[in-house]
Amino acid sequence: MQVKLREEQPDGELAPRVLRPRRAAPADAVRPTRAEINLGHLRHNLKAVRRAAGKARVFGVLKADGYGHGAPAVARTLERAGIDGFCVALVEEGVELREAGIGAPILVMSGAYYGQAWAEVVERQITPVIFDPGHAESLAREVRMRGRTAPTPVHFKVDTGMGRLGCDPSRVGPVLERMRAMPEIRIVGLMTHLACADEEQIDSVGMQLDLFDRATAVARSQGIEPEVRHAANSAALFRASAARLDLVRPGIALFGIAPRYGARVDLRPAMKIRTEVVATRDIRAGDAVGYGWTFRAARQSRIATIPMGYADGLSRHLSNRGEVLVMGRRARIVGNVSMNLTMIDVTDHPDVEPGEEVVVLGPQQGKLGTDAITAEEIAGHVGSIAWDVLTSVSRRVPRFYREP
Ligand SMILES: *Cc1c(COP(=O)(O)O)cnc(C)c1O
Repeated sequence: MQVKLREEQPDGELAPRVLRPRRAAPADAVRPTRAEINLGHLRHNLKAVRRAAGKARVFGVLKADGYGHGAPAVARTLERAGIDGFCVALVEEGVELREAGIGAPILVMSGAYYGQAWAEVVERQITPVIFDPGHAESLAREVRMRGRTAPTPVHFKVDTGMGRLGCDPSRVGPVLERMRAMPEIRIVGLMTHLACADEEQIDSVGMQLDLFDRATAVARSQGIEPEVRHAANSAALFRASAARLDLVRPGIALFGIAPRYGARVDLRPAMKIRTEVVATRDIRAGDAVGYGWTFRAARQSRIATIPMGYADGLSRHLSNRGEVLVMGRRARIVGNVSMNLTMIDVTDHPDVEPGEEVVVLGPQQGKLGTDAITAEEIAGHVGSIAWDVLTSVSRRVPRFYREP
């Protein structure tokens, strides 16, 4: 933890501050395990998103440290490439972007407002998503306390079927009426979130948008005229043109993962994870490898050990299941993945010695071929989704940023 003490202001008031964990920086890297982020691919993906978005504004979703890619660097790259704004889950994440010098609009979506949240929102011009009148009142109080004369802009969220956050459609009328009575806040956006845009069947998207239209009509009947209405995540952006509205909120697409269904989209994975072999051994048929001896060699085998384990985000579910790339060809993970180390079978890769490059995620070209390991493939092995794979790369793995 990087502990930031709250600084006394000259007038004795405490400056708003939130703490954040520190991720390993390139300068900390001793072992060769690292994530390389291709900034050119981020820009390429933004272009693809823009093309699909048409006239809609693009707000890149950078929650969870930019899906594990490092939010500040990703935000700087996308801001320079002309993105319209950013969405994050937490106020802390918005603060991190402001401290990194990001001036673009920032929308906080998770509804988790505690402690210093409202002070940060007001001071740093972060736009909160609100659906709870209690939150609106707390924010209004903060705006008054800080002597602001201009109202603070907020977006209002409607739950049209996600069952997670947002105002129930049946209560939109009375809740908006209460919020409208607070001169300290101004509703500039209406939003909802789609539950099934990345499923094969997307009929539900139309149903959710209908409910959203009705909620919008209620708002308009009260004289609330939002500047923007938005609903689309990555999958909806590419697959459901009706969901694009005035603004889109792609996350995963910016990092190069395309929707599972629908037309193919030319996106480029932004993250590559590579390491190097630290040790090798030759074992006999019948010898076992790793905790619990869950792998036993069927033949004389060469086993290589790599310095990456489940504490780095290489899921233990990949034990005896996942694959990595060595010399451009696949090698199987053997035995149980341990906390810091993983063993791979390189019997069919000639002369693997310590120092040989191993790619855990992304492409590799070598003397035995060219191949790539995708986040979707890893997700398939571990019974999860690409979002989980990318956000699981732990802060112990330094991120290196590459201009192509
Ligand atoms: C995460 C999230 C998004 C982005 O979703 P992707 O599928 O990664 O594009 C958009 N809106 C909300 C409310 C989210 O929570």
